[in-house]
Amino acid sequence: MKLTSEIETALRILFENGHEAYCVGGCVRDHLMGIQPHDYDITTSAKPQEILECFTEYKTLTVGLKHGTVTVIINGEPIEITTYRIDGEYKDSRHPETVAFTKDLREDTSRRDFTVNSIAYSPVTGYTDHHNGIKDIDNKIIRCVGEPYKRFTEDALRILRALRFASTLGFTIEDETSKAIHDLKLLLKNIAAERIYTEFTKLICGKNARKILNEFHDVIAVFIPEITPMVGFEQNNPHHCYDVYTHTLVSLESIAPEPLLRWTMLLHDIGKPHCYTENETGGHFYGHYKISSDITKTVLKRLKASKEMIEHTALLVYRHDTLIPITDKSIRRLLMKMGEEDIFLLYDINRADAKAQAKHQIKQRLERIDLLEQKTKEIIAKNECFTKKALAINGNDLIDAGIPKGKEIGIIIDKLLCAVVDQKIENNKEALIKRASQIYRSL
Ligand code: ATP
Ligand code: MG
Repeated sequence: MKLTSEIETALRILFENGHEAYCVGGCVRDHLMGIQPHDYDITTSAKPQEILECFTEYKTLTVGLKHGTVTVIINGEPIEITTYRIDGEYKDSRHPETVAFTKDLREDTSRRDFTVNSIAYSPVTGYTDHHNGIKDIDNKIIRCVGEPYKRFTEDALRILRALRFASTLGFTIEDETSKAIHDLKLLLKNIAAERIYTEFTKLICGKNARKILNEFHDVIAVFIPEITPMVGFEQNNPHHCYDVYTHTLVSLESIAPEPLLRWTMLLHDIGKPHCYTENETGGHFYGHYKISSDITKTVLKRLKASKEMIEHTALLVYRHDTLIPITDKSIRRLLMKMGEEDIFLLYDINRADAKAQAKHQIKQRLERIDLLEQKTKEIIAKNECFTKKALAINGNDLIDAGIPKGKEIGIIIDKLLCAVVDQKIENNKEALIKRASQIYRSL
């Protein structure tokens, strides 16, 4: 295994001081899968005090000392070194009551969540694989170290980590592990919303997200119960060939693995079951975009997503179903409402949505979106005005022209921008001031 020179240094110093030291966890797993590790964790037989004694010539951080972790700075790189640990009893499916240190690597690897995350590597001894993790990597399997029911009861976050790794690595969850996940899913109620949000966001960005979200929708429903009505909800409409949940998952899989986009696809139709109506032409979901957007806010607030993330996702969900006429005026208006960045996100969302609809219409819908996108780029390239910033006047200009300070200024600016965007008036100062006075008088 190729290590960074800083990691090699850390392992060598521990080793030269008579301690065992290994890379362990995600970095070994990723390396064995041919993925470049994004960070390295070191596990050692040295007690925290002994680690500090090995690195007196280096800057060290000791915030994690209680849990056995010392961070050593080598060449400006922070390296986490943790003493072999046995986790004590878990009382709340979250935190071990106590942490004990040990001199036995096997005990440390036995506390780790999955076999694929329990492999240790050192340049001196090569791989140590107490739980057959290498075989599970070869066969693409997520399997608990030890007894799944015990391991998930100890720490329920592992339930979501199993689904996350299966999704991001493209692995299958072994039968006993999978059964325990379904049976113990309610333990997820003990886990802090923030941690659920972080793991679940990684899950939905994984390459196997569709399969995992489908197989484990009952587990996801523990923290997003709003998804349940979508499952198996038939659309009875010639535009659709999937039930609402399958449509959702196919659309999710059809968009780039960015949190904002994946969350938008997951939630874009979540309001559909709440507004279903039927007539001679089939099933309809009038106004579902609005219900979906409201549910989006509820879900993301509950999971403690950032305010920005909640607002942005809810906005894209709200707009996902708007049919945009292919005219310069409509596009300029949409650019005014949404801004340049969001409009292209909206097109990506429209594409993903189209790809999850009835096969016979996909090509035509995609061509239409391509055309819209093309026209939008042309409008932007022409430097036409569609933002307040690009308007040839601002609030101060209006005040200078004699319009009193107050909320009218904002209203006038909005109206002026609309007039410019609709090309009813030119974007030059003189014309705008003249129109502003007229608007002011009419208010
Ligand atoms: P990545 O960093 O790529 O998300 P990782 O496997 O490195 O994946 P981390 O959360 O960084 O995951 O944890 C490092 C290692 O610590 C894991 O590989 C695993 O061995 C162990 N570990 C982490 N969380 C748990 C847990 N909840 N229960 C048991 N072991 C865990
Ligand atoms: Mg890691």
